[in-house]
Amino acid sequence: MKAYALIGYPLEHTYSPFLHKLIFTAWALPHTYIAWEVLPSELAVGVEMFRRNFAGFNVTSPHKKEIIPLLDELDLSAEIFSAVNTVKNEDGRLIGYNTDGVGFMAGLERLDYDATDKHILILGAGGAAYTVALELARLGCSFTIANREVETAYQLKLYLDKRFPNVDSEVCNIERIPRQKYEMIVNATPVGMPPLVGHSPIHPSYLEGAELVYDLNYNPARSLLLQQAEQAGCLVENGLPMLVYQGIRSQEIWQGRKASPEMGEEILAVMAKEVQK
Ligand code: NAP
Repeated sequence: MKAYALIGYPLEHTYSPFLHKLIFTAWALPHTYIAWEVLPSELAVGVEMFRRNFAGFNVTSPHKKEIIPLLDELDLSAEIFSAVNTVKNEDGRLIGYNTDGVGFMAGLERLDYDATDKHILILGAGGAAYTVALELARLGCSFTIANREVETAYQLKLYLDKRFPNVDSEVCNIERIPRQKYEMIVNATPVGMPPLVGHSPIHPSYLEGAELVYDLNYNPARSLLLQQAEQAGCLVENGLPMLVYQGIRSQEIWQGRKASPEMGEEILAVMAKEVQK
């Protein structure tokens, strides 16, 4: 039996242990997965403890960047995002990966949506917005990045400009988004999830003409933004497939095996029921 964990702070409402136990059951593995709160000041000590006792661990806020200097090696996936959400322990060597991008793209693939060359409105400019922007920049998308703190959005624009010099992006305040056609809108803010249920980050008039609205939050399954997007005739996706598929990808890295698409969808269905409880 091997031990795995999620580290972050705080970790009050995480579904990760439930998700990873479903994967262990599907693969008939005897392993365990626990959520372990690690304060920022305890990260270095915590990582050494995990090096001795755990076969791997996931990393969430606020440690995704701070953990990098404590690891022995970074996979290309983590280098690209300058953030780690998965660590594999190979005989005491800690190797950092990032599976968030795989999770985000799995949400698009399930819908059979081709985002190539689309103009995207990204709401938010935190860690999740970086994942979204970097994945979609590879597909030649252009971006309007809207955030409360415009300076934070500008940092994301600079990051994109450096890595993708041919990609167009502009930044704005989330209260003053330019009126233009956005083919895809991604909510990478917590607006719509508790305690902001019943709130939307944008006025519904921005949804007109959008093909797809993707809310990275999944609780509730249909945020106000997604309800309004459905009414406007858009395709919609919530963040649950992203959560599930980033977790499955972590397990593929740890266990050295591939999950079938059927297994992914079965686990997603069970997770959807669990989140709605
Ligand atoms: P983060 O790094 O803390 O960034 C949060 C972003 O939301 C910032 O841009 C912040 O703007 C903005 N924001 C916060 N409160 C806001 C409000 N009341 N009104 C407008 N904007 C607000 O968080 P993150 O990791 O990027 O995550 C963002 C969201 O995506 C979270 O809700 C998270 O749960 C979700 N997420 C889901 C998955 C998944 O697997 N489904 C994965 C990652 C994240 P300022 O810069 O102005 O503060």
